[in-house]
Amino acid sequence: MASRKTDVKGVIPRPKRERRTPLCSNLSGYRRKRDFERTPEPSGARLSKKEPRLLYVIQRHQASRLHYDLRLQEGSVLKSWAVPKTPPEKAGERRLAVEVEDHPLDYGAFEGTIPEGEYGAGTVKIWDKGTYELLEAGPSKRLVSIQGRRLKGTYVLVKLRPGEGEKDKNWLFFKMKDDGTETGRREKA
Ligand code: MN
Repeated sequence: MASRKTDVKGVIPRPKRERRTPLCSNLSGYRRKRDFERTPEPSGARLSKKEPRLLYVIQRHQASRLHYDLRLQEGSVLKSWAVPKTPPEKAGERRLAVEVEDHPLDYGAFEGTIPEGEYGAGTVKIWDKGTYELLEAGPSKRLVSIQGRRLKGTYVLVKLRPGEGEKDKNWLFFKMKDDGTETGRREKA
């Protein structure tokens, strides 16, 4: 029988509880750009309850330029990319996805209007939402299985090598073919 270690007095020490910090620490870039007195967006002050499955969401953001914000939960934040074109529903459609700052988990439920003059001013609407499974992760790659209403299947995010004077923020986002091959880029439907 496995016995717990006791101290000298024979008392079983109470297991130490790790306290989680109430603030998501790596959201400084997100917070710096926003005035939460003015914008209805969440500040990320509340730590959401641990979800057994990982959150996936795409928000249609009608800002000065229309784009789609792809967000994938990693730990207690949403990793985020801005996709300038309609997200790829079929294999063979490759989209640029520009890495942006981490967002708080509760941003995944946000819809509303960011006021004129504020960062990202415009309207935000959820375009697709669901869960995803992380199949493979590296500093410049994510292989994910997305279960959304619009996007379903295996998707790849791969970081592009920056050209001269380019920022190190550009990724490609595309769907794999059902047979698991890369892109089907040259396939004709
Ligand atoms: Mn945006």
